[in-house]
Amino acid sequence: MSLIEDLRGAIGANGVVAGGEAEPKHFGDWHVPMRQGELPAAVVYPTSTAEVAAVLRYCNEHGIPVVPQGGLTGLLGGATPVEGSVALSLARMRRIEAVDVAGATLTAEAGVPLQAIQEAADAAGMLFGLDIGSRGTCTIGGNASTNAGGNRVLRYGMAREMILGLEAVLADGTILSSLNTMLKNNAGYDLKQLFIGSEGTLGVITKVVVRLHPKPSSLATAFVALPSHAALLEFLGRARRELASTLAAFEALWPDFYHLATHEHGCRAPLPEGAACYVLMEAMGTDQERDDAAFASLIERALEDGTASDAVIAQNLREGREMWSLRDSVAEFPRTFPHVGFDVSVPIVTVERFMADTRRAIDGLHQGLPILWFGHLADSNLHICVRLQKDGPGKKAIDAMVYGCVKAVGGSVSAEHGIGILKKPYLGYTRSPAEMEAMRRLKVAFDPKGILNPGKVF
Ligand SMILES: Cc1cc2nc3c(=O)[nH]c(=O)nc-3n(C[C@H](O)[C@H](O)[C@H](O)COP(=O)(O)OP(=O)(O)OC[C@H]3O[C@@H](n4cnc5c(N)ncnc54)[C@H](O)[C@@H]3O)c2cc1C
Repeated sequence: MSLIEDLRGAIGANGVVAGGEAEPKHFGDWHVPMRQGELPAAVVYPTSTAEVAAVLRYCNEHGIPVVPQGGLTGLLGGATPVEGSVALSLARMRRIEAVDVAGATLTAEAGVPLQAIQEAADAAGMLFGLDIGSRGTCTIGGNASTNAGGNRVLRYGMAREMILGLEAVLADGTILSSLNTMLKNNAGYDLKQLFIGSEGTLGVITKVVVRLHPKPSSLATAFVALPSHAALLEFLGRARRELASTLAAFEALWPDFYHLATHEHGCRAPLPEGAACYVLMEAMGTDQERDDAAFASLIERALEDGTASDAVIAQNLREGREMWSLRDSVAEFPRTFPHVGFDVSVPIVTVERFMADTRRAIDGLHQGLPILWFGHLADSNLHICVRLQKDGPGKKAIDAMVYGCVKAVGGSVSAEHGIGILKKPYLGYTRSPAEMEAMRRLKVAFDPKGILNPGKVF
C-alpha cells in the first residue's frame, strides 16, 4: 500500500491530500516559502487527538518526517515542510470545548484561531491576554508551540504564562494529556512546559487550557516624546512604579521609524518630529476615573520636570487605535523599505550601547545604511529593520553583524518568534553548549527516531 492509502486507512479519505495536489499554502510559512524541491508527500487534516496519534504512530513506524502546521504565520520557516514529509495541519481541530468563568479557564483544540479564543473569552465577560498582529490566522497550538509574545506581555506574560494545561501527542503516538485547570499544581515535572516554545520538535499539541482574566473596564493610551535615551529609561521606571499592574504596553519607536510611518504610510503624526525617541503607552484597569487620573498625572509630571518633551493622551478609542495603527504600520514597511528584520532581546540597561554597537557594525559593512528601531522595550524586546539595497550588503552579512552584537551584550537572538530554520546558525550565540546538549538529549528521549519537525531549531 502507498503512504497516501495507508494514511487514508488511518484517518479517512477526507483527511489526506497527496503533496502535489495540496493547497500551496501548506508548502511554506509566512516568510519561508517552499524550499527548492522540498515538497511534502502528503498533507493530513486530522479531526481528533486519536487521529493525530494514528498519523504519528504510522509515520514513526515508517520513519516519515512530520511537520506540524497551525496558521502558518510563523516567520522563521518552522512549519515549512521538508522533502517527503507529512505536513500535519490542525485546521480541522477548531472546537472551543469549554469556557469556565468561575475557574477563569478556556479549553480549546489546537487549531482554534487566536481571535476566536479572544472572542469567546469576551462573550463570557472575560479577557484572554494574548494578542499578536496575526490573531485572525494564527492558532492557539501555534502560539503555544512558539511561546508567542505580542502586545500585552508586560501585563499578562508570554503564552507560557497563560497556559495551564496542554495535551500533546508524542512521536510514537502516545497521548500525553495534562489538561490541568488549576493555577497551582506542583505534582512532579510540569511536562507541558516542554512543548511550549519547542516549535513542534517534541510533540504535536492537540489541546490547551488557557487562563482568562477579568475584562478591564478602563483604557488609557498616550503617545509621548522623550528627549534622550536616559529619559526613556527613567520614564519606563516611573510608569512601572506609578501605574503598577495597569501598565499594559510600553512600545518604543525611534525617529526613523516614526518618519517612515508618518510620511510614507499615511499614519497621522500624533506629535511633531524631532524627539530622541517616542513611546506608545497603554494602561488597562478597573476604575476609569482613578486610572485616568494616575495616567495623566504620570505624564504631566514627566512634562514638568523635562523627562518627557511632549505628549498627547488619546481622547477616545478612535484616537487610541490611530496610535496603534502607527505602530502596526510596520507590516507594510517591506513595500517602501525592503529590509532584513530582527526580533531580538537585550538587557534593558544595554539598549543604548547595543544600538550604538550595531550602528557601528553595520557602518563597517556599508556606511550610513538606514536602520529602523522599535520594540516592546519594557520586555527587553527590540525589533530592527536594516535596509536591503542593491549596492549594500546581503542578508547573511547583516545577520552575522547584528547577532554578533546581540551576543556581545548577553541578549537573545530570538525574543518572540523562535528559531525555526532561519535562526539555527545563531542559536549558540544565546544558548551554551551545555544547554544545547540538554536540548538534544530531550529531543532523543521524546522522539528517538527524529521524525518530528526535523531540521528545525537545532
Ligand atoms: C503580521 C504578523 C504579526 C506577528 N506578530 C507577532 C507578535 O507580536 N509576537 C509573536 O510572538 N509572534 C508574532 N508573529 C509570528 C506568528 O504569528 C507566531 O509565531 C504564531 O504564534 C504562530 O502561530 P501559527 O498557528 O501561525 O503557527 P505556524 O506558523 O503554523 O507554526 C509555527 C511553529 O509551530 C509549530 N506548530 C504549529 N502548530 C503546532 C501544534 N499544534 N503542535 C506542535 N507544533 C505546532 C510549527 O511546526 C512551527 O514550528 C507575527 C506574524 C505575523 C505574520
